[in-house]
Amino acid sequence: MSDCIFCKIIDGEIPADKIYEDEHLIAFNDLSPQAPVHVLVIPKKHIASTEDLLEDDAPIMGHIMTKIKDIAKLVGITNGYRLVINCGEDGQQTVPHLHIHLLGKRSLQWPPG
Ligand code: AMP
Ligand code: ZN
Repeated sequence: MSDCIFCKIIDGEIPADKIYEDEHLIAFNDLSPQAPVHVLVIPKKHIASTEDLLEDDAPIMGHIMTKIKDIAKLVGITNGYRLVINCGEDGQQTVPHLHIHLLGKRSLQWPPG
């Protein structure tokens, strides 16, 4: 997707503070961190949101989920974390490329706003 900001990060057209990258995903620091650790984990394939996931995307998404704990370790999280996926307007999704927020290194409130 040529006008997608996260696809531009994947293609190296926009810089990002990368934490981890492999064949299916990249993880980079959020520009506007909401916790001492705030990493975005995104599939390299452009998938707009969880509403757009196909059965064929299951291996990619499964791979991403299994890598989260490794990424958490890489950024020094030792006491738990929260994963958030915003979807659509009510979910306050602002970037239409599926991303998982990995938040940690502080005690997080529940429920979210
Ligand atoms: P969401 O509101 O769930 O769509 O989250 C989008 C996230 O992307 C926000 O937390 C933004 O701070 C973050 N963001 C937007 N542009 C960039 C960028 N160029 N590099 C890193 N994070 C970004
Ligand atoms: Zn994209």
